Amino acid sequence: MTTEELRESLLMAPKNGYTKLSDAQRAEMESYCKRYAAFMDACKTEREATAWTVQEAEKLGFKALVPGMELKPGDKVYRNNRDKSIMLAVIGEKSLNEGANICAAHVDSPRLDLKPNPLYEDSEIAYFKTHYYGGIKKYQWATIPLALHGVVYRKDGSVVTVTIGEEESDPILMISDLLPHLAADQMQKTAAKAIEGEQLNVILGSQPLEGEGSDLTKLHIMKLLNEKYGLIESDFLSAELTIVPAGKCREVGLDRSLLGAYGHDDRVCAYAELEAIFNIGTPAKTAVCILADKEEIGSVGISGMQSTCFETFMHDLCHATKASMYRCFENSFCLSADVSNAFDPNFAETCDRRNNSLLNYGVAICKYTGSRGKGGASDASAEAMGHVRSTLEKAGVIWQIATLGKVDQGGGGTVAAYMANRNIVTVDAGVPVISMHAPIEIVSKLDCYETMLACKAIYLA
Ligand code: MN
Ligand code: MN
Repeated sequence: MTTEELRESLLMAPKNGYTKLSDAQRAEMESYCKRYAAFMDACKTEREATAWTVQEAEKLGFKALVPGMELKPGDKVYRNNRDKSIMLAVIGEKSLNEGANICAAHVDSPRLDLKPNPLYEDSEIAYFKTHYYGGIKKYQWATIPLALHGVVYRKDGSVVTVTIGEEESDPILMISDLLPHLAADQMQKTAAKAIEGEQLNVILGSQPLEGEGSDLTKLHIMKLLNEKYGLIESDFLSAELTIVPAGKCREVGLDRSLLGAYGHDDRVCAYAELEAIFNIGTPAKTAVCILADKEEIGSVGISGMQSTCFETFMHDLCHATKASMYRCFENSFCLSADVSNAFDPNFAETCDRRNNSLLNYGVAICKYTGSRGKGGASDASAEAMGHVRSTLEKAGVIWQIATLGKVDQGGGGTVAAYMANRNIVTVDAGVPVISMHAPIEIVSKLDCYETMLACKAIYLA
C-alpha cells in the first residue's frame, strides 16, 4: 500500500457536514430549522414547552396515559408532569421487556427568577428583585432587553399566565449597568463580581402616581399589574415568574447558517426529540421522549430527571402491556440529548481541539462529561458507544465526538448519570453550542437537523 492509501484506510478524516449534504437535505434542514425557530419563539420556559408539546402531541393523536388503559403497538401516549415536564411514548411492536429506546432532554434554561417578595421602590424607581437560576455570568444580563414570563396563583385560587416583553407593542424590562466614566472600581473586580446577584434588579418603571407617600412608583406598577392580570402584591408569594431575554430566534451570520436564541440549551435537543417521535410510525421497540425540568440546578425536585415521575410513567406503560419495568430498564437504551460546547477559536485555550465538537460537524456524541477525574460523569461503555456509532452510521447521520473542555478546565453534567443509575445504558449526545448559557446562544442549523435525525435513528433502532 502507498502512504496515501494507508492514510485513507487507517486514519480518521473528519469533514465539515456541508461537504456531505445533498441539495434536498439542505432544503429539509432549512424547513426543519424554521419549525424549530417557531418552537423557540413560543417556548422560553419549561411550562411553555410542556404546554406546547401537549397541544402538538394531541393534534397528532397522542392521548394522556391513564392507569388501567390498554395499549397496543402504534398507540401514542403522554404524561404531563404538573405542567413542568412531559414524557411521551409510541408503543412498539416488541414487548417492553425487550427495552425501550429513550431520548431525554431538558426544557429549563438559566434565567432570573423573581424572589417571592420581588416588588420594591428605591429612589422613585420601581424594581423586581431576582434570584438567578442555573449557571449564568451575571454581567451578561445587564443592559439587554428582558421579558417576564410565568404563572401566578391568585388569592382566589385562579391561575393567570403572564407574558410581557415579547410583542412588538409590549414594553421590555432591563437591568442597569454602571457608566464607564464612573466604573474605575467596578472594572478592577473579577468578572464574577462586576455585577453581583443582589444587583440583578429589574427596572419596572419610574412614574409615580399622584398623592403622598414613598411608594407611589411601586404602587403605579402594582396598579398596572392589577388592571392587566388582576394581581395584588401578595399574589407574588404564590407565583413562578421569571425574567428571560426578550426577542425571537434569529438567523445569525451573513450566510444565515447559524441560529441565535435564548435557551438552545436544551430546547434544541427537546425539539429534535419531538420531531423525531412525531414521525416514526410504529417502531420496533417502544420509543420514549422525555422533556425534563430542573436540569440546570441538578435534575432535582419533582419535575427533574431524578424524580420517580419517570418510574411512574414507565410503570404505567409496562403494566398496560404486561411487562416488568425493571426488565424494561435493563434492556433499554437512553440518548441523553443535551448540548455540548462547540469549539470557539476565540477561547481555543479552554479546549482539547482534537476531542472537541465543532460547528457543522453534526450531532456531538459525548462519552463522558463530569469534572476533574470524570467526577459525576456517567461515562458510557465501549459497547454503548459502539451501539450509537453503528446506529447513526447505518442511518447516514452526520456525527462527531465531543468532550467538555480541557482536562481540569471545569466541567458539568447532564441527566445521563440519573438515567444510567436506573440500569439504563445511556450515552450523551446533542447540538454543539457557542456561548452556552449566555442570554443568546448560537447553534448551527446543520447540527440541529442532524440531531433530530440522530434521535429518529435511536427511536428506530
Ligand atoms: Mn443542558
Ligand atoms: Mn445547561
